[in-house]
Amino acid sequence: MKAVVYHGPGQMAWEEVAKPTLQHDTDAIVRVDSVTICGTDLHILKGDVPEVTDGRILGHEAVGTVESVGSGVMRVKPGDRVLISCISACGTCRFCREGRYGLCVGGGGWVLGHLIDGTQAEYVRVPFVDTSTHLVPAGASDEEVLMLADILPTAYEVGVVNGHIGPGDVVAIVGVGPIGLAAITGARLFSPSHIVAIDITDSRLEIAKQFGADVTVNDRRDDALRAVHELTGGLGADVAIEAVGTPAAFERTVELARPGGHIANIGVHGEPSTLHLETLWPRDVTITTGLVDTYSTPTLLRLVSSNQIDATRFVTHRFALDDFETAYDAFSRPGETGAVKVVASAS
Ligand SMILES: [Zn+2]
Ligand SMILES: [Zn+2]
Repeated sequence: MKAVVYHGPGQMAWEEVAKPTLQHDTDAIVRVDSVTICGTDLHILKGDVPEVTDGRILGHEAVGTVESVGSGVMRVKPGDRVLISCISACGTCRFCREGRYGLCVGGGGWVLGHLIDGTQAEYVRVPFVDTSTHLVPAGASDEEVLMLADILPTAYEVGVVNGHIGPGDVVAIVGVGPIGLAAITGARLFSPSHIVAIDITDSRLEIAKQFGADVTVNDRRDDALRAVHELTGGLGADVAIEAVGTPAAFERTVELARPGGHIANIGVHGEPSTLHLETLWPRDVTITTGLVDTYSTPTLLRLVSSNQIDATRFVTHRFALDDFETAYDAFSRPGETGAVKVVASAS
């Protein structure tokens, strides 16, 4: 079969590899029908995620059809269409029992395309398949559910819920790539009074408006802090969300929050950021970080099924699996290509 194989920073290829086989009795082998590329994959290619080693198949988000299952699998059966979550869950460790699957210490957590081979392939071995996949609702297309593998639960749990967004809040979102757009989507479920989208690329700010941001600021040209203060009588945002993963973006996000406000970091960071405690200590802010747990995926699936979230609007580019390298190129140059999310599908 063929797969996207990582060969060190800056190097990947769609190349021939061995088809995966069942290794544990709770595994399944799933034929990948549709798969996407994550901003995290670009962080891996930049060398920000050093646990990913040469030879690893990338990808942690897919919709596929189950081909075979191990003898210990109870729920999932061959022929099922499943959403493969970015987080695997052993289901029995302390953290899984608390619904904190992202922290799983029983062999799950974020392992696909990270510590074990991932989904950007014709076939993938999914560990703990009963507790790590969701059945695709009857009648739903791949594209309607694919964004629930990662970006929608990530933005919802780590940005919206951790940030405690409530009705009437002013929400500032730094970075409106796919995760920032997903944060806008999740924030709108809670009726904030304003969503301020902040980026340095005008085309992305235009898309943020379509997703429901009512104020957009190009922070290279204009001053996001002034814009947020104008909306809030000089106080700052109730909730400030970091959706980039750079020191500059994190430090900017912290500046935007009001005293007593919430700062929710979603970005994947590859280097240290400065935490200005010399100014923050009397401001009563709450700063949260997190890897998604995906406890919200069933809720989000219901919202997709009832048309309260349109997850297909993220998809701007479509490719065949064999064109994976072109898909990566389009996704990695969003300023020129206008890509939000790209989908590669089996023919
Ligand atoms: Zn991801
Ligand atoms: Zn676990």
